[in-house]
Amino acid sequence: MKIPAKMRTYCPNCKKHTFQDVKIEKARQRGGGMGHGSRRSERWTSRIGNHGRYSRRPIASRNMTSKTTKKVDLRTTCTECGKKWIRSRPRARRTELKRV
Ligand SMILES: [Zn+2]
Repeated sequence: MKIPAKMRTYCPNCKKHTFQDVKIEKARQRGGGMGHGSRRSERWTSRIGNHGRYSRRPIASRNMTSKTTKKVDLRTTCTECGKKWIRSRPRARRTELKRV
């Protein structure tokens, strides 16, 4: 899916449609050391402990396939007031900006 790099959409601050610059938002690395989830995933990758194998169905029959499409968040910057907004886009295999 191609998205125009500049689009005319609603700005909640200006309360009207304005031209807005579009950028694709990337996931940021969070600081603060290891949380509960990363500690648990490290136990899984280092193969420590029984990963619930005797109380659940076998791993192969569990759903381990990942999705082939991705939702993308767009960061749009209003050219009139300079405010930034985040809009989400529907699922697509590939999302790229189209230069105008
Ligand atoms: Zn605005």
